[in-house]
Amino acid sequence: MKISVNRDLCYGSGDCVYRVPSVFTAADGFGAVIPGRENAGDDPEVREAAERCPSQAITIGE
Ligand code: SF4
Repeated sequence: MKISVNRDLCYGSGDCVYRVPSVFTAADGFGAVIPGRENAGDDPEVREAAERCPSQAITIGE
């Protein structure tokens, strides 16, 4: 499932990068998905990172 980060909501806390550095990275002060890892949304750690994002900026969709 596809992961996306809404930059309008993200404030760059870095939580997602800390939790799952194999999938998330920091770009221009925002959280971002590492290119090529956009389809890692089935990973339980990614799901947890999305649930715990303090601004609910991470979406996991089809
Ligand atoms: S956890 Fe949420 S607010 Fe923090 S960097 Fe990641 S996407 Fe942005």
